[in-house]
Amino acid sequence: MPPTFSDLSRRNFLKQGIAAGAVGSLATASLAQQLQVPEPPGRKLGWAIVGLGRLSINQILPAFAKCEKSRVVAFVTGSREKGEKLAARYGVNPKNIYNYQTYDALRDNPEVDIIYIVLPNGMHAEYTIRGARAGKHILTEKPMANTPKDCEEMIAEARRANRKLMVAYRCRYEPYNNELIKVSRSGDIGKIRVVLSDHGFNIGDPTQWRLNKALAGGGSLMDIGLYSLQAACYTTGEDPIEVSAMEFTDRSDPRFKEVEDVINFQMRFPSGALAQCTSSYGYAGQSRIRVIGAGGWAELEPATSYTGLRMRVRLGNRTEERDLPQRDHFAAEMDHLSDCVMQNKDVLTPGEEGLRDLKIMTAIYEAARTGKTVKL
Ligand code: NAD
Repeated sequence: MPPTFSDLSRRNFLKQGIAAGAVGSLATASLAQQLQVPEPPGRKLGWAIVGLGRLSINQILPAFAKCEKSRVVAFVTGSREKGEKLAARYGVNPKNIYNYQTYDALRDNPEVDIIYIVLPNGMHAEYTIRGARAGKHILTEKPMANTPKDCEEMIAEARRANRKLMVAYRCRYEPYNNELIKVSRSGDIGKIRVVLSDHGFNIGDPTQWRLNKALAGGGSLMDIGLYSLQAACYTTGEDPIEVSAMEFTDRSDPRFKEVEDVINFQMRFPSGALAQCTSSYGYAGQSRIRVIGAGGWAELEPATSYTGLRMRVRLGNRTEERDLPQRDHFAAEMDHLSDCVMQNKDVLTPGEEGLRDLKIMTAIYEAARTGKTVKL
């Protein structure tokens, strides 16, 4: 008997159904392969954030959602209202909102393991010292302090209190700068001859603390040129032995009454490698590192922005772009310190590195002022 219309359509339906089921299970398999189901959270250390300004609000607080080992449990702020708003958003108990006078009472709060200091540079030393005396581990924003002497006191106090002290050099904790370090030191591009690095932006409001010498410690060099300096040191893996520098600042510009605008500096490393770096508060945004070896080069641009980093490597006569995972720099650096505290390990960017950089920057200012090469 020939098949009826309803037989045909049932067969068709069954066939399609089987096919759809097969596609469905294939899709499920590949989704399961793609989807990395995270482990349940392990132990997280409690963090207090000191200073609720732009960096804290726009970068650090949102980064806790990506942390595996760190959670925010306290705020230190001059504005109770701001603290309460952010406490409601990030699930911080309002009893854990402190101000700059009650800061030392963190000593009696066992929920807080680590203090992150996100204040103007000139305040890092005082709040690190008071924080260590309160028995807490410290992450301080860069630059570590205004002077090498302040850095030495911070290191001594953390040591006395047997607490860890880390400088927030976030680029050391993200994949692109680490790949640049790897390529630079691997020998693939040959012996490093030169590192070029430029960092700067055109600064706005002349009344902001970054343009106040007492609060900032200096101008563009202390704030953004420090990225150029760091890059030259971490790509070569060396500390400079001498520096020279030139400065250009238009003192009639209301922004530059107290601090410098452009500072170009050169550094010589023990291997013979030379670094050529620029720093400015008066030019269009720059964020660039290029390491040039005898047989190739590697560069990042943007090199130190929060997101969107890009890498190119030239080996022989081929230039390739390298795509790496984009990681949240702040989550990575905070989890590093939490991990070091939990495992009692040394941090990658300790206070000693912040001190080294303050010594180099002090030498750069001296070289710019005197026009002479300064030995380190
Ligand atoms: P900001 O001006 O936005 O915030 C500073 C905070 O300090 C504000 O909450 C302010 O109220 C508070 N504060 C307390 N006392 C103050 C005083 N006497 N004068 C001015 N402010 C006072 O600054 P920011 O951009 O958040 O920078 C804070 C720190 O973070 C600086 O050390 C800066 O160098 C560093 N920073 C680092 C990065 C990075 O990528 N790692 C980026 C930006 C800033």
